[in-house]
Amino acid sequence: MIRPLPKHIINQIAAGEVVERPASIVKELVENSLDAGATKITIAILDAGLTEIKIQDNGSGISREDFPHVFQRHATSKIEAIEDLETLSTMGFRGEALSSIQAVAQVEMMTKTKADTTGYYYNPYTEEIKPIAQSQEGTTIIIRNLFYNLPARKKFLKSHSTELSHITRIVEEIALVHPEIEFMYTSQERTVFHVLSGDSLSRVVALLKIKDTEYLLPVDSQKQNIQLRGYIGHPRISKRSPQYHIFVNNRPVLQPLLHKAIQQGFDTMLEVGHYPFAFISLHINPEEVDVNVHPRKTEVKFIDDKMVFSTVKYMVKDILQKSAFDIVLKPHTAPTPLSSVNIQSTPYSHPKNSYEMNRYESPSRVAEPAIPSYTPPQSSHPILSSIPPTMRDLLEPETQKPTYLHLFDTYIVYPNQQGMMILDQHAIHEKIILEQLMQADYNVQSQQLLFPIVHTVPQSEKELIIEVLSQLSGFEVDDFGSSEIIIRAVPTFLTKNQKTEAHIDTLIAIIIERGQTTDLEELRIELLKTIACKSAIKAGYPISRGEIEALIRDGAKTDFGFACCHGRPTMVQLDKDWFEKQFSR
Ligand code: ADP
Ligand code: MG
Repeated sequence: MIRPLPKHIINQIAAGEVVERPASIVKELVENSLDAGATKITIAILDAGLTEIKIQDNGSGISREDFPHVFQRHATSKIEAIEDLETLSTMGFRGEALSSIQAVAQVEMMTKTKADTTGYYYNPYTEEIKPIAQSQEGTTIIIRNLFYNLPARKKFLKSHSTELSHITRIVEEIALVHPEIEFMYTSQERTVFHVLSGDSLSRVVALLKIKDTEYLLPVDSQKQNIQLRGYIGHPRISKRSPQYHIFVNNRPVLQPLLHKAIQQGFDTMLEVGHYPFAFISLHINPEEVDVNVHPRKTEVKFIDDKMVFSTVKYMVKDILQKSAFDIVLKPHTAPTPLSSVNIQSTPYSHPKNSYEMNRYESPSRVAEPAIPSYTPPQSSHPILSSIPPTMRDLLEPETQKPTYLHLFDTYIVYPNQQGMMILDQHAIHEKIILEQLMQADYNVQSQQLLFPIVHTVPQSEKELIIEVLSQLSGFEVDDFGSSEIIIRAVPTFLTKNQKTEAHIDTLIAIIIERGQTTDLEELRIELLKTIACKSAIKAGYPISRGEIEALIRDGAKTDFGFACCHGRPTMVQLDKDWFEKQFSR
């Protein structure tokens, strides 16, 4: 017999989609507060949200006649017509959150609107309404005993510390894109963070552990209906784990597409296996994005994926080209007597920041409920205001027939327009080769070898090696008996120097080392980097004037020539004012 499901069961099923864990409740409730126009939001958590979640805001409040609708499924104040769906700028609209939450926890609400003279308490379960003393407009929602009626769901939750870290991440992300709103976040009645309304940089600094604001490159560009704002980290603060904080129309998203676009924007500036820091808020016309694809709204769908991808990639690239090299290039040292200047090893020592960085520790630690009083660091982005010179301007010698100094058979020193340029011959050469290889590799041409290379490999790894190599574009590889493989074709760039076999050795060694976890893209870049490093002139090697000039000419054609793939400088620029400072002029 077919019977319609009772309403509370329907709500519990729907709740399964929205309320995955305590953090999802926090997200929905804080978003409701944002939608209500709050300027201060307090989030108080007990036992990772299982015992209690209390969200208080100073938003519009909810009027009495709306009370029953608030907890009804598909009841929302945010959509009237279907067309609204496409242009919506509020966070919520499905009208599902509160009804779902109500189905899996005990809920209470206190609220007051501007029009009301008194506040009201409302319990959706008992439908009790009573007036309460509340002078401030706004809403407080208290969620208790999450999943009390669904013990099986409760068992699926992870440890308290894991659940709490999910909550922290959510609150942090929302706070990041809303620097204008004050957030107070506590756990077990202790402050985790309290941030006053302020500007974006102070919010990023207060919430994310960035030691040096000098390494934050501001993002503020507009192209193809896409606006990007935020900060990307100089390659020097890249890490072995992802540090992406991405938002689409103010909504935190986990969007592999955008992570990849950012990563590729960094191009050759990142070390293999390193991820950049990126706090990026992308704004796009709501019509060009579907936020409704994911019930918890953690991923969005762009109508034109490809366009978004390449726009983001090139915007990131552009910012790096325009500003990263200022940081890499210039010694940011305070005036120092010449005797203590060691240009090679300390070209950039940064002054300690004048504000306290670690107000926000890990969720379990208690931070001082101190209020950020943000004083911008004095030397932050000293050069960003000026128009950055191009690689060509930078490397161009001051005169037609310049004098080059070749120091320690490693550094090329010569006067340029701004002062004095110092190049590291190995680093710049490596970078030139790498960029050329990367360019060529985007449309890899394969070259049949006149004499195919037979290579002995460990038998146990043979299959893997053949599989990986043949997936790398340009290679043609076959099994050649017990523990041998035969390489019949290689990418053309590999045949351009005599070290083809040596490079193949390196490649095979990497595949054996990485085993099944070999990532093709990483392998490809690693191969190119190895080739570049091995083919570049060594440090401590005498070179001719012609070679010096070739390095300068080719360096001028690079995109990221100012930094090697570890984010270290390939060159250091000493401006006229640097000299003047040294001599206290
Ligand atoms: P949605 O946000 O998708 O509309 P919800 O279930 O989250 O659905 O909320 C239902 C309605 O309750 C909202 O449309 C809004 O009118 C009201 N509401 C919820 N929370 C608040 C709040 N903190 N302040 C004011 N109104 C609120
Ligand atoms: Mg909502």
